[in-house]
Amino acid sequence: MTIDVQAATRSFLAQTEAHLVSYLEGCLHCGQCADACLFYRTSGDPRHTPAYKLFPIAKAYKAQKWPLRWLGLAPKVTETDLQEWEELIFDTCTMCGRCTEACPMAIDIASIVGQARRAWAVAGLGPADLQAAAENSRDHGSPLGLTPEKLEDRLDWLADDEEVDIPLDKTGAEVLLTVSSIEAMKYPKSLSAMAKIMNHAGVNWTFSAHGYEATNFGYLAGRADIAKTMLMRIVSTAEAAGVKTVVIPECGHAYGVMRWGAANILGRPLPFEVLHITEYIAKLKREGKLKLKPYDKPFTYHDPCQVSRRGGAAADARYILDGFATQFHEMTPTAELNWCCGGGGGVQAMSRAAELRNKAFKIKIDQVAATGTDTLVSACANCRLTMDESKLYWKWDGGLESLVEIVAENLVEA
Ligand code: SF4
Ligand code: SF4
Repeated sequence: MTIDVQAATRSFLAQTEAHLVSYLEGCLHCGQCADACLFYRTSGDPRHTPAYKLFPIAKAYKAQKWPLRWLGLAPKVTETDLQEWEELIFDTCTMCGRCTEACPMAIDIASIVGQARRAWAVAGLGPADLQAAAENSRDHGSPLGLTPEKLEDRLDWLADDEEVDIPLDKTGAEVLLTVSSIEAMKYPKSLSAMAKIMNHAGVNWTFSAHGYEATNFGYLAGRADIAKTMLMRIVSTAEAAGVKTVVIPECGHAYGVMRWGAANILGRPLPFEVLHITEYIAKLKREGKLKLKPYDKPFTYHDPCQVSRRGGAAADARYILDGFATQFHEMTPTAELNWCCGGGGGVQAMSRAAELRNKAFKIKIDQVAATGTDTLVSACANCRLTMDESKLYWKWDGGLESLVEIVAENLVEA
C-alpha cells in the first residue's frame, strides 16, 4: 500500500488556514477533556485523550510557523504518525462532541477529527469497511444496498403491511422525507411510522427514489467527493420538487451533515429548511396537529449526540414526550451532556472497533439502571443498531425503541 504523506500534509494545511487554527493555538494541554470521552473513560488509555487525537494535524500546523520553518527545525508529519493515529482518528472518536463541553477553551475536537479524516483518506488510509460503506453509497445509492428499486419495493410492502399511504415522488409536495438505510434495512417500521405521523397531521409530503439516502458515509470516511455527491442527490431532488422542507429521519450524523455542513460543503445556501424528524414532530405538536393517547411504559431517553448536543434539539424530544409519556425518567447526565452510544462517527461500521465500543456501552447500561427502567427510547437508527449489538455483548435484558415508532403507535385518529 502506498501512503501519500505529502497529500495528507497538504490536506491538513489547507484546513489549518481556516478556523481550525484558533483551536490548535487555543489548546492549554490541561487534559480536562480526557474524562469526558467515552473511550478514555472506558480504556484509561492516555492515547484516547481527545486532545491527543489532534497530534498529527497540530504537528503539520506547527511545521508552517515561520521561526521553526526558517530555522529548519520544523517537525514533519510522517508515515508512522499517520499509521499510528489512524485508530485514534477513526476507531476511537465518534465525533460526539462531549469533550468540547468539558474544554475550557470550547475546542471543537469532533469537527477537527472530521477534517483530519480527509487527510487520511487522501493519503490512502482509513478503515476498509468505512471506505467500502462510502463507496457503496456513491455506486449503489446507500451504504447497505438500498437501491432506488429496493426502496420502492420496501415502501410498497410497508404500505400493504402497515395499511398506510406512502407517497413516492409525488409532485407538488411541500415536505421531502428522507430515509436512513439502517432504518430501511434493519428497522423498516420506522419508515411506515414516519408516514403515519405525516398523514395523521395532514402534511403534503413525499419520499423520493432520486434523493433518499440521508446517511453520509462520504463525510464519515473523510471522502469529500462522496460526501458532496450524497448531499447533492437530496439537494437536487428537493430543488427540482420545489419543497419547502427536507426532513431527516432518525439518524444523527445525517442530520448534522445536511443541517450544519451542506451549505459549507456545497458553497451556497440551501433553498429549503432542514429539520430532524424530532424537530418536525415537535413542530406538528406545537401546531396542534398531533393527537396522542398516553404512553404508559417506563423508559429513559437516549439523546443522539448529533441531534441533542451538536444539533441543539434536546428540548424538542422532551416537548414531544411531555404530557404523552407518563413514565419518562431522565438519565444522569442527559441532554447536551449525555454519553454517546459508542457507534457514531462511523465507528458502528468499523468491525475492528467493535470490542472497545461494546465495552463503552457499559456506561449507558449503568445510566439506564440508575433510572429504575430497562428501556431506552431514542431518535437515531445508528444509536439503535449500536446498542442492539452492544446489548448482546453484555447480555443486557434492556430494550431499545424508536421515538418515531412510539409516537406513531399512539396516534389517535379523529
Ligand atoms: S468527540 Fe467524543 S469520542 Fe471524539 S474525542 Fe471527543 S468525547 Fe471522545
Ligand atoms: S480540555 Fe481543551 S484545552 Fe484542555 S487539553 Fe483538552 S482540548 Fe486542550
